[in-house]
Amino acid sequence: MVLNSFVQVHPDSHFPLENLPYGVFKPQESLEPRPGVAIGDYVLDLSVVSSAGLFDGPILNSSDCFLQPSLNKFLGMGRPAWKEARATLQKLLSSDNPTFRDNASLREKSLLPMDKVKMLLPAVIGDYTDFFSSMHHAKNCGTMFRGPENAIPPNWFHLPIAYHGRASSIVISGTDIIRPRGQGHPVGNSPPYFGPSLKLDFELEMAAVVGPGNELGKPIDVNEAADHIFGLVLMNDWSARDIQAWEYVPLGPFLGKSFGTTVSPWIVTLDALEPFACDAPKQEPHPLPYLAEKNSKNYDISLEVRIKPSGQEHSSVVTSSNFKHLYWTLTQQLAHHTINGCNLRPGDLLGTGTISGPEPESLGCLLELTWNGQKSLSLNGLNRKFLEDGDEVIFAGCCKGNGYNVGFGTCSGKILPAP
Ligand code: MN
Repeated sequence: MVLNSFVQVHPDSHFPLENLPYGVFKPQESLEPRPGVAIGDYVLDLSVVSSAGLFDGPILNSSDCFLQPSLNKFLGMGRPAWKEARATLQKLLSSDNPTFRDNASLREKSLLPMDKVKMLLPAVIGDYTDFFSSMHHAKNCGTMFRGPENAIPPNWFHLPIAYHGRASSIVISGTDIIRPRGQGHPVGNSPPYFGPSLKLDFELEMAAVVGPGNELGKPIDVNEAADHIFGLVLMNDWSARDIQAWEYVPLGPFLGKSFGTTVSPWIVTLDALEPFACDAPKQEPHPLPYLAEKNSKNYDISLEVRIKPSGQEHSSVVTSSNFKHLYWTLTQQLAHHTINGCNLRPGDLLGTGTISGPEPESLGCLLELTWNGQKSLSLNGLNRKFLEDGDEVIFAGCCKGNGYNVGFGTCSGKILPAP
């Protein structure tokens, strides 16, 4: 059954009453940031809803979590608070509830056209970790750099591999990305190249936003890990392949990644994604007990990447993938992250790694799509091996329900020339 809101929601909208994703926005440049949820083409200002005393459930009626400039406090309150907020908002926004429907001044104060507000990062992100959970991506990259016999390293099937990323350079969708400069891999006997990256790439990823964290020294059980994940965003892990290839031995990615990571503004909650849960791939060999889940699941989320070159009117689709192709689940990633006692905190971001599918048209980065520049993609007649200055890269993600969508909107960024 499709839920009905008194707010007009187009059937193609990513943001019907079934979704209600959370973000942080400024209604005007001069006003303070505040939390909101998306409904159709509008943003509902949760600071207004909260100040009006309309969160009347037992947990939220005395909380100032929606009077904060970030979602961190709400994230830390955990699933009972999230469930209460969702139930209250679905009730208040439904077509048969008069509270907002019949109160024009309340509507005017609280429902703002989405294209008039400025979206900000939804949370203060203290730490950011990026996993490597797509087997297809791991296999393709390994084949390119080590040959088909040694493509997937022996540890890959036993643990979700990750590196610690840079939280300070995570930016909100729409922020320009400056082409990084750095050292590139030497060719033959020549010294290493220094200059603007010649192999700038996107990585199609999603990221989990951590809810309640854990105390240092107290790991989170894999079967309780879902209660520590608030929801998901789209994420572009921009990557300079030439810098990465030269620097990554033996300590892993560094300056080839840390110049920028873009996230989408709306966090879609696991509660909204639940109707789209599906079986995770069978894991062989069977993981060690601390990673073995009673109920292992993925989500069926269609993902698409478009590139819009400078001067072209239209963007071209370069790949279509799906979140369900990931081998390691979100909950296994989170449990593995804390098994040594490492403490996660509300707002931490856990990237999935590039989400490549099994088909050639479902590969999640240009490195794979062009096989490290050995072939070109055609964008309305323009050739691309890696990103050029002026290219805008646009991710979209959406779950298709029966008569409605639960979508993520878009995650975009444009490449500016190196300084
Ligand atoms: Mn990545």
